[in-house]
Amino acid sequence: YTLSLHDALPISPFNSHVVSALKASGAIILGKTNLDEFGMGSTTETSAYRATRNPWEHRRVPGGSSGGSAAAVAQHQCIAALGSDTGGSIRQPASFCGVVGLKPTFGLLSRHGLMSYASSFDCIGPVTSSVQDAAIVLSAMSEPSQQIDSTLQKQKSSAYHEHLLDIEHMTTQPLRGRRFAIIKETIGPGVEISVVERILTAASDIEDLGGIVDVVSCPTFNLGLPAYYILALSEASSNLARYDNVRFGDSELSRSEGMGAEVKRRILMGSYALSAGHSDAYYKRAQEVRSLVEADLSTKLKTYDVLLTPAAPTPAFRANEKKDHPLAMFSGDMMTVNINLCGLPAIVVRGGKVLVEDKLLPVGLQFIGRPFGEVSLLETAHIFEICTWKN
Ligand code: GLN
Repeated sequence: YTLSLHDALPISPFNSHVVSALKASGAIILGKTNLDEFGMGSTTETSAYRATRNPWEHRRVPGGSSGGSAAAVAQHQCIAALGSDTGGSIRQPASFCGVVGLKPTFGLLSRHGLMSYASSFDCIGPVTSSVQDAAIVLSAMSEPSQQIDSTLQKQKSSAYHEHLLDIEHMTTQPLRGRRFAIIKETIGPGVEISVVERILTAASDIEDLGGIVDVVSCPTFNLGLPAYYILALSEASSNLARYDNVRFGDSELSRSEGMGAEVKRRILMGSYALSAGHSDAYYKRAQEVRSLVEADLSTKLKTYDVLLTPAAPTPAFRANEKKDHPLAMFSGDMMTVNINLCGLPAIVVRGGKVLVEDKLLPVGLQFIGRPFGEVSLLETAHIFEICTWKN
């Protein structure tokens, strides 16, 4: 089901809380950006509006699902764009397009008006050109909401950008006293060597800036990917039941018409994982894995202020390369999904470029913080960004 570019685009009947809050603080909303249908994808190739391409290299994907947002910011079409991050959809496209992407703590921002994919994971966040811009947009969006959102945990808004120092006011070792840990499992097999090199370079930059960097093992890290896909698709199969073309959707169409192949595949997989006779083997086990990952990462975050990983195991790959290989596509989310399993905040910043074939492509670094530790996480990312500035 592909919309023609001449079809009237659906207009939202109301603004989401975050859009209203941005407008109230003076932001101008230019339009909507492209994404994988229902946020399901890692390349922005499964959109009814057709694929978005990577502005650095048009034969490559911009990442996904919020690839349109990352591409628009990378091309300076706008100062900031929004994404919703269920398993990495803000951070992985930020990495592929060389911009900044912030996934806040689960429950920090109101999701009123956001279409649900997997409700125990979904978070709205900004895609921007700098950490400072991410902090400004986050501050505006965290204005208290009048609407009911039962997952909203902190109603107190915070001026996140006011905590960021200008470079002139920084000491020569502005990261002194901050402890970082690179997750060992994210720099091992399955991760491109050029990406690992960027992380190791970042580690030595952080040490030069006074931070302490260790490498620690998180043995549960590799379990998160299958658990995420079972849980996210189970939740999606329930959330998307409402698009039955009776109450929501196009009443001219039958029940499953109007949904793309990827969405249908995911509803089928999620319904299977939840079905009687299978839910113990899939859904329940995945929930147990979720608890193990949470325990592992929260223990590490007691000792370390920030956990450090690549944002994705590779730079942007070629369009169509993984489109028909769902497992290969899913495995590209290995760096990001665990963070959503645990509801933690994480920000992706530029980690320099790597040469792929004849092109330099951006690679992002992921800084993971403590729950509701956005102030400290943004401070750290900001110091790193401006002291190691890479275009
Ligand atoms: N690529 C992941 C998925 O398809 C994450 C998507 C997202 O965060 N919306 O589920």
